[in-house]
Amino acid sequence: MKFVHCFTLLITLFYFPAYAQPHNKKKKDFSEIKVPAVEYTLPDMENILFEDDYQDTSRVSESYTFVPEREPNMLYEDEEDSAFFDDEEGDLHVVEVNEQMNIDSIWITYAQYFAIWDSKTINPYKIDGAEFKDTIRLTLYDSLSGLNWALPHFESKINSKFGMRRYRWHYGIDLDLNIGDPISAAFDGIVRIVQYDSRGYGRYIVLRHYNGLETLYGHLTKALVQVGQLVKAGETIGLGGSTGRSTGPHLHFEIRYEGNAIDPEYIFDFQNKTLKTQKFDLMPLHFSYLKEARKVFYHTVRKGESLGSISRKYKVPLSTLCRLNGMTPKTILRVGRKIRIR
Ligand SMILES: [Zn+2]
Repeated sequence: MKFVHCFTLLITLFYFPAYAQPHNKKKKDFSEIKVPAVEYTLPDMENILFEDDYQDTSRVSESYTFVPEREPNMLYEDEEDSAFFDDEEGDLHVVEVNEQMNIDSIWITYAQYFAIWDSKTINPYKIDGAEFKDTIRLTLYDSLSGLNWALPHFESKINSKFGMRRYRWHYGIDLDLNIGDPISAAFDGIVRIVQYDSRGYGRYIVLRHYNGLETLYGHLTKALVQVGQLVKAGETIGLGGSTGRSTGPHLHFEIRYEGNAIDPEYIFDFQNKTLKTQKFDLMPLHFSYLKEARKVFYHTVRKGESLGSISRKYKVPLSTLCRLNGMTPKTILRVGRKIRIR
């Protein structure tokens, strides 16, 4: 992948010193030079599905636009819109190029990026991270173009890591908090989902970022943003809590690429409250955990056991056991029968 800049703003200044000028010119006062304002254009909203319009998930995968080998398609600002100007005296030459995004090795426009939009499904992409074979360089932030990062919670104390937990995979990390603590957007982006899932994430928010990642914030007490809203890194998007399937106040924080979670600790150094890198090379090894995460676990029924006791033993909800095994809570278990617990 050659083009690694995400949403790049280039400002090139050419200053020709006064002594090089053939004519007598008065010295330039740079404090008076007008620098053109940078304006970002909103995405083509016609292709965005909002909750009310949303009907059919199958259409979403068909309209998927992250197609490899797409020809570069860069958006430049119109020249008239300050992309270029010549100082009257020819001393200063400013060139701006912006509105470039690079997702998955290809340059795409805002409109293409936003063409797949689903305000209900956390993973509408239907891409298997285990099949991932490339290395993709993601520019996590670019302060030159005003794209920043922030910790999702100021204390960043990890309660639970990414990985196997109680016989099921934990696809994020849990950060300790007090109910009502502000939760911040990790990067600049747009709000894709604001939902409530009483049996899982509770009140949660999914943000889509310009750097190609998506982040999820779970168990919130309150969401302070709406679907489609643009957010800046560090902006408070909600208040922490313990809603949904949660045993105490914490933030469940996930980082995903095209729907597939990666360990947030590849990106953030929570102990030192910093980002690990500005340019992150996403590689197949970041998804290698999926093999482990997808392992199926069975318990062999012993005398006196019921679905209820197995549920308590493995801390797997009774409803999950029923679903995995096609049973009801009243199903009588035969000794020696294998019960899938994950
Ligand atoms: Zn969690």
